Amino acid sequence: MTMQTVLSDIGSINDKYVMFNRFTEDSDPGDSKFLFSAKDNLTSKDFETCCGSRILEGYHPVFDATAIAKMRNAGGKLIGKTNMDEFGFGTFSANSGFGIPRNPFDLERACGGSSGGSACAAAVIEDHVSLGVSTGGSICCPASFCGVYGIAPTYGRVSRYGLIDYGNSLDKIGLLSAKASDLTRYLPVISGRDERDPTSCVQPELEIKGDRIRSVAVPKEAAEGLSKDVSEAFLNSLETLKGMGIDVEYVDMPALKYAMPAYYVLATSEASTNLARYVGMRYGHQDGDLSLKFDDYFTYFRSKYFGDEAKRRILLGTYTRMAGFRDRYYAKALKVRMYVIDAYKQILKDHDAVLAPTMPFVAPRFDDISKMTPVESYKADYLTVPANLAGTPHLSVPCGYNADGMPIGMQFVADHWNEDRLLTMANEWDKAFDVRKAEVSL
Ligand code: GLN
Repeated sequence: MTMQTVLSDIGSINDKYVMFNRFTEDSDPGDSKFLFSAKDNLTSKDFETCCGSRILEGYHPVFDATAIAKMRNAGGKLIGKTNMDEFGFGTFSANSGFGIPRNPFDLERACGGSSGGSACAAAVIEDHVSLGVSTGGSICCPASFCGVYGIAPTYGRVSRYGLIDYGNSLDKIGLLSAKASDLTRYLPVISGRDERDPTSCVQPELEIKGDRIRSVAVPKEAAEGLSKDVSEAFLNSLETLKGMGIDVEYVDMPALKYAMPAYYVLATSEASTNLARYVGMRYGHQDGDLSLKFDDYFTYFRSKYFGDEAKRRILLGTYTRMAGFRDRYYAKALKVRMYVIDAYKQILKDHDAVLAPTMPFVAPRFDDISKMTPVESYKADYLTVPANLAGTPHLSVPCGYNADGMPIGMQFVADHWNEDRLLTMANEWDKAFDVRKAEVSL
């Protein structure tokens, strides 16, 4: 696919795979050096930005998020904004207020979430890189379900300026691509300090030195709850890693068990305050009855335009922060977060990375997702949320395929600011493992 073909076929590609909420109508690549897409929670000039939520319909940002601006400055053409779970709330991109992306390996299955549209674009469009965002696993989960590479850098590595917040202390912008080398090429492009995001300001430079991962720690707790196909593919991959001269050692990491509940307390607490700004006054829909009292006016918009999952998280997050409950939930979850960080720090003293499967099962079918309870869906994140709580960089690589041909991924977690090791791993793994491309037809 040349840039020209992608641009002229983008409508029919999207009809089939539904990865974009908005895409470009300009079929001329001009002197662009590459094409990229971005999750729809990154503000962008020229494209409506909705964050997967109907409440933001009609919001046209007047500025580019720093990550998008940097990609454009490097010669990239932004071709579309990718479908996602509303505000990032989900694991399958099925909680989208707009389109639900379809898995390129089986259209009846989900792409994962919440950066599902980005993973789908990376898998379907040749030579494509997509900006994704992870709060609790939203880059690695869809990367794994769609059989592509995904990297979420250290918290603070990439400026969050222009990112519509889900959980400010957790959100990270990263990359998804079918090519391991793209991660090395574009992560330095989007990284670096930015005065407009204070959390990006103190960081060691991202140097690409080719530092290798020589030893990995596999937490025993991670093996609990894996489906048979994921477990088999993962065990085979451990053998491949040993063949690459990498030490593999099983370790105890009891902190893993507590990460998921703590994450959902912290993430919903932050989300519930972030969503308070959507009231039909400043962004998106503003077509309410102005003669209403202000609280009735706000209630009208929030009831009408927020999806069920957003409402559930507002309730949960408000509850966990309330006087009387705060110590029992929010404050306790913060302590668990420290416990998880300490657990990584301890293990990463003796090992270069912690390794586990990315997701406990392959991409599920949409009809199975619709039968899942919210808690069942939250539980699916038990392997991806710990590294996100710790703010450590993590990488998902394709590591196998089940009998139905569905991709399986595994996730390496390195210590803070050690993205170089992950990038080197991605490139080495790409040589050792036979990554399959989805068969794309229009
Ligand atoms: N599935 C997790 C959640 O719903 C993570 C999503 C994310 O990283 N945005 O919170």
